[in-house]
Amino acid sequence: MRAPTTTGAAAHRGRPDADADVIVVGAGPAGSTAATHLARAGLDVLLLEKATFPREKVCGDGLTPRGMKQLIDLGVDCSRAAGWVHNRGLRVVGGGVGVELDWPTSAVFPDFGAVRPRADLDDLLARTAQRAGARLRENTTVTGAVTDERTGRVVGVAGHERAGTDRRPVSFRAPLTLSCDGVSARVAQSVGITRRDDRPMGVAVRRYFTSPRSDDAYLETHLELWDRADPAHPALLPGYGWVFGMGDGTANVGLGVLSTTRAAGGRTDYRGLLASWVAGLPGEWGLSEQTATGPAAGAGLPMGLNRTPQYRPGMLLVGDAAGTVNPLNGEGIAYAMESAVLAAGCAIQGMAREGASREAALASYPVRLAEALGRYYRLGTAVARLVGNPSVMRVARRHGLPRRTVMAVLLKLMANLYDPSEGGLSDRVLATMTRLSPSLN
Ligand SMILES: Cc1cc2nc3c(=O)[nH]c(=O)nc-3n(C[C@H](O)[C@H](O)[C@H](O)COP(=O)(O)OP(=O)(O)OC[C@H]3O[C@@H](n4cnc5c(N)ncnc54)[C@H](O)[C@@H]3O)c2cc1C
Repeated sequence: MRAPTTTGAAAHRGRPDADADVIVVGAGPAGSTAATHLARAGLDVLLLEKATFPREKVCGDGLTPRGMKQLIDLGVDCSRAAGWVHNRGLRVVGGGVGVELDWPTSAVFPDFGAVRPRADLDDLLARTAQRAGARLRENTTVTGAVTDERTGRVVGVAGHERAGTDRRPVSFRAPLTLSCDGVSARVAQSVGITRRDDRPMGVAVRRYFTSPRSDDAYLETHLELWDRADPAHPALLPGYGWVFGMGDGTANVGLGVLSTTRAAGGRTDYRGLLASWVAGLPGEWGLSEQTATGPAAGAGLPMGLNRTPQYRPGMLLVGDAAGTVNPLNGEGIAYAMESAVLAAGCAIQGMAREGASREAALASYPVRLAEALGRYYRLGTAVARLVGNPSVMRVARRHGLPRRTVMAVLLKLMANLYDPSEGGLSDRVLATMTRLSPSLN
């Protein structure tokens, strides 16, 4: 059954049977960013979202300058006056010391990051897409792609929408669907595009606490994460813990782990791990069961472009659905938005054309994604494995982590903030390392 479309859909680029030019499934950072760019280019965009805004999303709520750049590019007012809680860098704790590193000055990225609850951020992004002209349809859960029986091409999506206690089936058609439905990647899964086991996957869990250090000007990250479930054999996990002051009297505290280690065997109790790590943090943060404002919650971190192919006729995979999380630092918002910009660019070109020319534009998306992220993610996956190796970390703790210069280079690498056009040695070294790494796709 086809539901009637909501507001005034324009003529759909020569397809009177379509409900939109582009269907975007999921209004997280990827979906709302893509929808905004597409709508600004004059396309009729149907943005389907299972939740209603504002809604919670399990996240660390941290934005590096890379994420801020995306928001600024989108036209979002990111000033303190507009309510943003800026931070000036990262405090990295490891090897028994804590080093404060300001975000680098660069032509490409701003010199500030921010924290913003996802309930807020995602609402703002969805409203931005709506203001640009995208038709947001909340309470609409997509259960799978609709494919052409003869060609297998994705021609739309099906699912159900909720109104009170009622649930009614819906389906929508469009020449192009963007799967921006996050780590579940339900649309991609429905056409058999599964996660790759040869690429990294992480798990992260977080909890909010009231804290006297809520106004910390730095995002604090702890590079050493010990799993002490078996006290006789503590294991150093490849991941890090964080304490991000939210600027409202609370802090977002969590940890992320690459799930390629003993954690992968399903033996790690992530909430328990978080509880024991928090218990070992300095008392002045005031983090305890008494100051927790809610339960711990976690989710998967799909990394290193771990779902391919990201194009299939009629469909593109964007953001977490494509596995765009940075394997080195678990950052996902910036990359979800960057992949959305690339996907929207290909879609805008494709939708202005017909036949093979359209397909060529759409099929170029994975190539562009690999050009943008493939080499860095290959390098990042290798470095993440090294960091996960206890003997490497032992040497790093003794000789590297306590040194400010080493840490500053590590920050640029981990946060992907180096700028090849900068003359600095560390930027040039990191740019060369990235260039020499083979790409992923
Ligand atoms: C504990 C944790 C901490 C993290 N901390 C950070 C951090 O501090 N900074 C950072 O940059 N990244 C962080 N990340 C990663 C970041 O949250 C994700 O990479 C980012 O949200 C990806 O954006 P997205 O738009 O691709 O997906 P999502 O944000 O997951 O958005 C997907 C949207 O699709 C909707 N949806 C899903 N399925 C359907 C369906 N079937 N039908 C309709 N709608 C659907 C969802 O409701 C959601 O709105 C963290 C992740 C976790 C788990």
